Amino acid sequence: MKKIIAANWKNNGSKEFIKNYFDYFAKNLNNTNKNEIIFFPPDLYMDQIDKYSKKLNFSLGGQNFTSSGDDFTLTGGTSSKMFIDNGCSHILIGHSEMRLYGFDTYTPANLLCFTHDHLQAILCVGEDHNDKKNNHTSEKISKQLKDLYENEFIPKKVIIAYEPVWAIGSGKIPTLDNISFIHRFIKNNILEKLPSLKEKDIMVLYGGSVNLKNAKDILSAPHVDGVLIGGASLEVKEFTSICNLKI
Ligand code: PEP
Repeated sequence: MKKIIAANWKNNGSKEFIKNYFDYFAKNLNNTNKNEIIFFPPDLYMDQIDKYSKKLNFSLGGQNFTSSGDDFTLTGGTSSKMFIDNGCSHILIGHSEMRLYGFDTYTPANLLCFTHDHLQAILCVGEDHNDKKNNHTSEKISKQLKDLYENEFIPKKVIIAYEPVWAIGSGKIPTLDNISFIHRFIKNNILEKLPSLKEKDIMVLYGGSVNLKNAKDILSAPHVDGVLIGGASLEVKEFTSICNLKI
């Protein structure tokens, strides 16, 4: 079954790294499952990677954006129009690292408005260690999902990335039952609030310490539509093998 496999490179990469990476990827990608592959590289390397996107049939996305481009000017900002101009079809919104360090110039709710029809937003949600300890996971996620409902803008398709903050880069993951439970909770929560959507319009990805050893099990778990991968997406052999998985 076709899944979304997304690579969040964060602030990693160089021209040389990209050349070597895509030389290997081009030779070894054998995506018979027809998984949808999306790379989220640093903004400065978008163009370098776009060169490979058509031939290798993957999409590109930005990791954060600061304005629509029409609303106001901002030193250091990147507008949604610039991402579109550079071949992007997706944008990450509300990643926990951006929330933690206050780099979201706008709230995720406002950012969602600026994706227009051209950028598909992937809204990141997830509990931190304290929420988990205090059994506040569902409550925290409900609050974060409010960003979707408090907008007049209702996307045709919603993509959520469930990323427990404690699992990011830690080597720890929730149990498969817990991942499925939270993904179903997210889908039900959205369907209750946005009844015009159908279940098939809501995709929920799991992110946090996904690697080649656990990817197949996670991708096969009920209600999991894909994965968002940080560290392991920088290891080209590992990431290519994940893209090649048959689910
Ligand atoms: C992330 O930061 O989005 C992420 C999933 O990181 P990692 O895979 O390294 O845990």
